[in-house]
Amino acid sequence: MQNTDSLEQRSMIEAPSFDVIIVGAGFAGMYMLHLARELGLTATVLETAPGVGGTWFWNRYPGARCDVESMQYSYSFCEELQQEWHWSERYASQPEILKYANHVANRFDLLRDIRFNSRVESAIFHEGEDVWQVSTDGGEHYRAKWCVMATGCLSAAQRPNIPGLGTFKGEIYHTGNWPQEPVDLTGRKIGAIGTGSSGIQVVPELAKLAKHLYVFQRTPNFSIPARNQPMDSAYETEWKQSYAQRRTAARTMPAGIFTDIGTKSALAVSADDRLLEYERRWAAGGTGFTGAYSDLLKDEDANSTAAEFVRKKIREVVTDPAVATLLAPVDHPIGSKRICADTNYFSTFNRQNVTLVDLRSNPLQEVSENGLTAGSQFYELDTLVLATGFDAITGALSKIDIVGRQALTLKEKWRDGPNTYLGLMTSGFPNLFIVTGPGSPSVLTNVIVAIEDNVKWIADCLAHLKTRGAETIEATASAEEGWMEHVGQAAEGTLYTKAKSWYLGVNVPGKPAVFMPYVGGVPTYQKICEEVAADGYKGFVIEGRSESLSARQAVG
Ligand SMILES: Cc1cc2nc3c(=O)[nH]c(=O)nc-3n(C[C@H](O)[C@H](O)[C@H](O)COP(=O)(O)OP(=O)(O)OC[C@H]3O[C@@H](n4cnc5c(N)ncnc54)[C@H](O)[C@@H]3O)c2cc1C
Repeated sequence: MQNTDSLEQRSMIEAPSFDVIIVGAGFAGMYMLHLARELGLTATVLETAPGVGGTWFWNRYPGARCDVESMQYSYSFCEELQQEWHWSERYASQPEILKYANHVANRFDLLRDIRFNSRVESAIFHEGEDVWQVSTDGGEHYRAKWCVMATGCLSAAQRPNIPGLGTFKGEIYHTGNWPQEPVDLTGRKIGAIGTGSSGIQVVPELAKLAKHLYVFQRTPNFSIPARNQPMDSAYETEWKQSYAQRRTAARTMPAGIFTDIGTKSALAVSADDRLLEYERRWAAGGTGFTGAYSDLLKDEDANSTAAEFVRKKIREVVTDPAVATLLAPVDHPIGSKRICADTNYFSTFNRQNVTLVDLRSNPLQEVSENGLTAGSQFYELDTLVLATGFDAITGALSKIDIVGRQALTLKEKWRDGPNTYLGLMTSGFPNLFIVTGPGSPSVLTNVIVAIEDNVKWIADCLAHLKTRGAETIEATASAEEGWMEHVGQAAEGTLYTKAKSWYLGVNVPGKPAVFMPYVGGVPTYQKICEEVAADGYKGFVIEGRSESLSARQAVG
């Protein structure tokens, strides 16, 4: 025991030391590394995967693609980068986005400061020294003054707890952790569980390959045709001619997406006009559909006009009326769960080799060696595809043993739900920043916009701390309390809380049901973040080492 302790202490003292440790090499971690370097800080990135790209490294399932248009779902921080890169489709596929992430890594020479195959298991704040010690599954230790969690909102794949899953003799694939080597599903009897965004993307592709595909659905979801197509060169040119202006304009829109948003109430126009508008948006395709009217996510009556329009479309596309009824969502307002964009999802259920199994009336009982039983029916399967989503927003953080002041663990602190100030920091955990953390707009936006804005704010903050020669920055408990109250109030006035969604964490057994993202929108959030910084980082305590104790006592 003695020996282990001293070994541990020695490796801690000898641990490589940096100004900043960044956890995660997705779009957030890569940009953070780039900006840390520009500040002249020493930085390293620790990443579980053997490559960059985050989401786009892990989600290699057939059909995976973005649902924010690629001209927007990309970095905006470098004009040359956005001019030189060419997207081949309106919505890029996973391989192309991963290629882009690698292009960025090479272009900005990021790889030399990223340690791959390094899963962070713990991050412990050493109070006396004001240093974070970060340890990986490989037994390596690193030290840094600042630690940035760029671990992603949708990076902790959620495996369902189905009795007997471990006994299945066929292959099991999770969409969020798809194998890196090619998977041949041709001629297989496939069971797909889950009909959220990933399920809706993967099902049409599986159907093309499978001998038979059984889609096991608990909750139907709203989806709008993506109308994906090869990139129109005139459209690309139009964007590139005014890229910077369009990126700026996007940041004035609630979701950080440059699009046309209706300013009228859905109830203030005639039924005929509404129909025309919904048809126009349906034909244009994409998730901008819910931007048709200003109150679609606020007023249930307004919302039901859009929901009913989509349900009618589903009934038109799906030839079997009983199947159409099962596919048409009735238990939540449209947009209150992440709205999906699909390619031939609903028409896939017209294929002879596809069967929809409704788990509400035929509950999933067990998986056995050769298949799955739902209701009283046994389905023989070769392959199971789990499109069961993520332990969203807090999942990746909760898998790390994060220990702050006075041995407080983040798990303990967030036992009843996550508390942050601006989604960026949490009190009791000095110098620990979170990118797109709970309490920030994150998954309600074009996430790359949310990432860029958070990362830039953190970098500006680090520059400020460096200039001041500060040792620590920490959110005050009262600022955090005020922010969480504001986050809760913002959600209350909307329909987001009317759905049992992963925004609330209810897809994860035992997770407290708290609405996690900030619904106030990108412009409001960004304005608040900027004001906080301009006001000398109001709501944060910034300390030099000698001041630290007295200042903390003063704050209480
Ligand atoms: C299928 C899919 C489609 C999506 N489409 C869109 C879209 O169209 N538009 C949009 O705005 N958003 C979309 N998203 C959300 C997407 O997650 C974000 O857009 C963005 O890619 C997140 O980047 P990130 O760097 O914050 O996180 P991630 O890309 O998730 O990267 C986090 C990285 O951290 C690593 N990591 C986590 N924990 C640890 C640890 N303990 N130690 C070391 N490394 C760790 C992970 O391995 C991962 O590589 C989609 C998500 C999915 C799953």
